[in-house]
Amino acid sequence: MALKESKYIWHDGKIVPWKEAKVHVLTHALHYGSSVFEGIRVYKSPKGSVAFRLTDHILRMKNSAKIYYMEIPYTVEDLVSSCKEIVKKNNLLEGSYIRPIAYRGYGEMGVAGNHEEPATCSIAAWEWGSYLGDNGLEDGVDVCVSSWQRVSPNTLPSLAKAGGNYLSSILITLEAKRQGFTEGIALNQGGFISEGAGENIFLASAGKLITPPSTASILPGLTRDTVIRLAKEINIEVVEQDIPREMLYIADEVFLTGTAAEITPVKSIDRIKVGSGSRGPMTKKLQESFFGLFDGSTKDNHGWLELI
Ligand code: PMP
Repeated sequence: MALKESKYIWHDGKIVPWKEAKVHVLTHALHYGSSVFEGIRVYKSPKGSVAFRLTDHILRMKNSAKIYYMEIPYTVEDLVSSCKEIVKKNNLLEGSYIRPIAYRGYGEMGVAGNHEEPATCSIAAWEWGSYLGDNGLEDGVDVCVSSWQRVSPNTLPSLAKAGGNYLSSILITLEAKRQGFTEGIALNQGGFISEGAGENIFLASAGKLITPPSTASILPGLTRDTVIRLAKEINIEVVEQDIPREMLYIADEVFLTGTAAEITPVKSIDRIKVGSGSRGPMTKKLQESFFGLFDGSTKDNHGWLELI
């Protein structure tokens, strides 16, 4: 689906027209993947328009940059307020998505790049609907286990949300789509379940919620963390453990989480039906709890809703 253009982009400290937020073709990040970025959703709530866990996302971006020896020349507070500013400037007060990115820019073409200089930084925002299809949230999606393995520990750091990591995600998701699936799930070096190309994964079995640990070559997603905390609040036991592939096939329920995917049920894996083949009761309960944050039916006990 084509990107829905908005009017302005925050580009290195200035607000510029959408079409003028350009980079040079010799930008380091374009050649070597040396960028770190985030994705944040904007929802309408009874309090007003909110960016979900915006500060936590910016903190993760700062940490991703730290892993790559990259200095972002703006404070967390500056970036948070610039994200809000660009949403307001574009009048994107609901159903939108914010994309801050910091990257090694133009000026040095060696692999190390201009690493002594601070990174360049931009923030875009645009309208973005459901990521895994319009009916995905209710009906669930069909996924497969990828033939591509997730990056192994001590190769590329999975805890960093860096541009280069997404080459692995691209292979996983394109292979899945070419075979008629909505998304691909990767195994890690140990042969256990890692995550989807752009989502974390959970399964429900015998009333418990099970998800791979942060050592399973995953990006520890903020939606994953939200679901874990909401589940505990409604007395669902959560276990973080290694998951062998076949455990997905025999689970009662499986779902994917992510800022873009929100909480998306999985109805089949490798053409094997999950549970009854439709959204299960635990997934529904967690979706209600999650989306309830935005209509006020779930109390925001953690200050996750950040007013724009
Ligand atoms: N894993 C990967 C590889 C991702 O790209 C994403 C999306 N950011 C996630 C997991 C989910 O993370 P979050 O819930 O913070 O969006």
